Amino acid sequence: MQPLERPANPGEIFDFHAHYDDAAFDPDRDEVLRELPDFGVCGVLNCGVDLSSSRACIALAERYAYCYAAAGYHPENLDGSPLDVDALCELLRAPKVVAVGEIGLDYHWEADEAGRKWQVDCFTRQLELANELGYPVIVHDRDAHADTLELLRRYRPQGVVHCFSGSAEMAEELLKLGLYLGVGGVSTFQNAKKIRAVLETLPLDRLLLETDAPYLAPVPYRGTRCHSGMIIRVAEAIAELRATTREEVLARSLENGKRLFRL
Ligand SMILES: [Zn+2]
Repeated sequence: MQPLERPANPGEIFDFHAHYDDAAFDPDRDEVLRELPDFGVCGVLNCGVDLSSSRACIALAERYAYCYAAAGYHPENLDGSPLDVDALCELLRAPKVVAVGEIGLDYHWEADEAGRKWQVDCFTRQLELANELGYPVIVHDRDAHADTLELLRRYRPQGVVHCFSGSAEMAEELLKLGLYLGVGGVSTFQNAKKIRAVLETLPLDRLLLETDAPYLAPVPYRGTRCHSGMIIRVAEAIAELRATTREEVLARSLENGKRLFRL
């Protein structure tokens, strides 16, 4: 694991978006998950990207007391076949599953009109399901801000827009809908002017800290395999923008996530 000093206050980091089922952790997954509490990690929410990944996230939640799971179909993992809604419902009823996710729209790799329409259909179906079953949602929005906002306005779910990358205006609209913004390593990148501007004024009761591990490691670990202990760097970056302490930022995020996911 990436060398990182141990935090002053153990048990203060909750990573509200990670993928420890990802193949990047195949060589040493259990070692990493056993060590995370030593880095101050008190909780991890693993997000499924399809049925088998959701099952793997649930298995991790069964094995590690501090792990929770979300189940859903990620827009990049739709293969064109119909969603297996019955199987998804069954997974959502498993203990320690706290959200429908990761769901949403990703137009970055999908230029095709029919492909985008299919993403909208699948996102819509999962938003309906979350509302029916009373779950919050974990939303992925990449280069699809307008359509994402429109669907969130229509369905009004509780939830978080993870790895928020929109404008201050978009943030404003999401806050009006009662949604939370997920913020991770990108906020520490030099060129991340947009998210840093949002963070200057974002009410701290709508912030959720996350990694998206194994992706998006914060500076100074950028480009390496990310783990939840690195959230300390994100909390420090936000604390600097807000003239507060990293402990305060970590504590507020923890409080928010517990409220949203009813932990
Ligand atoms: Zn993710």
